Amino acid sequence: MITCEDLVKIYKVDEDLEVMALQGLDLNVEKGEMMGIIGNSGSGKSTLLNMLGGLDRPTAGKLIVDGKDLLRMSDKDLVRYKLETVGFIWQNNAKNLLPYLTALENVELPMLLKGRHKRERAKELLEMVGMGHRIHNKLHMLSGGEQQRVAIAISLANYPKLLLADEPTGSVDTKTADIILDVFRTLNQELGVTIVIVTHDMQLTKKMDRVVAIRDGRTSSEILRKPYYEDVLREAEHIEGEEESH
Ligand code: ADP
Ligand code: MG
Repeated sequence: MITCEDLVKIYKVDEDLEVMALQGLDLNVEKGEMMGIIGNSGSGKSTLLNMLGGLDRPTAGKLIVDGKDLLRMSDKDLVRYKLETVGFIWQNNAKNLLPYLTALENVELPMLLKGRHKRERAKELLEMVGMGHRIHNKLHMLSGGEQQRVAIAISLANYPKLLLADEPTGSVDTKTADIILDVFRTLNQELGVTIVIVTHDMQLTKKMDRVVAIRDGRTSSEILRKPYYEDVLREAEHIEGEEESH
């Protein structure tokens, strides 16, 4: 689904300041995979997701998604790719929702704006994220996790093949984060959507097929080796166990 080779992204801040956010990053994601990306703040995770989603173009390297060359395609094709292929979820997605509309109305509204008013589809999307029983509740009456699920439903409106989530559980508690991850897993298994999730929560990465770490704009090779990755998880579990016993 995704091939990145030697991907470089340079932001020009002003005349004499450039930031090299991606410094030759390599990454492969299979169709139908649910992949985790971890890394410190500023390591380039959001930049990578933005490139994958066609929100911005890389400076150099190779980036093929679903057979499309995102570096070389025309601006028009890039816009079409973004609208047709990708669904985006951010940490604060729920903040863009309208509190005094119902869950159903919140999902319908962006469809209306795009001229495809489909109440049945909106209901179906809410059912998919486990919100079928709350569609007529006003948004401000829902919990943070439920609101995030409504936001996920909206991101699915265009039947994306690729779902990109940037810290989707950043503003919810651990239990809610687990539920949201389960929603992703269901979408992945039932619809075959390829999902790339950026998170800093090591516990959540357990639920993913594969995890890659990014450091200074590059994929960190040592964490790609599974034994190391398992060590990291064991360590994380150990730390959590200690915290609980205190
Ligand atoms: P992460 O999501 O891992 O925290 P980012 O991809 O947001 O990292 O940022 C990577 C680097 O690129 C950081 O040094 C950040 O300051 C810089 N950066 C990100 N976006 C921009 C931008 N639009 N303009 C200039 N620099 C940016
Ligand atoms: Mg980020």
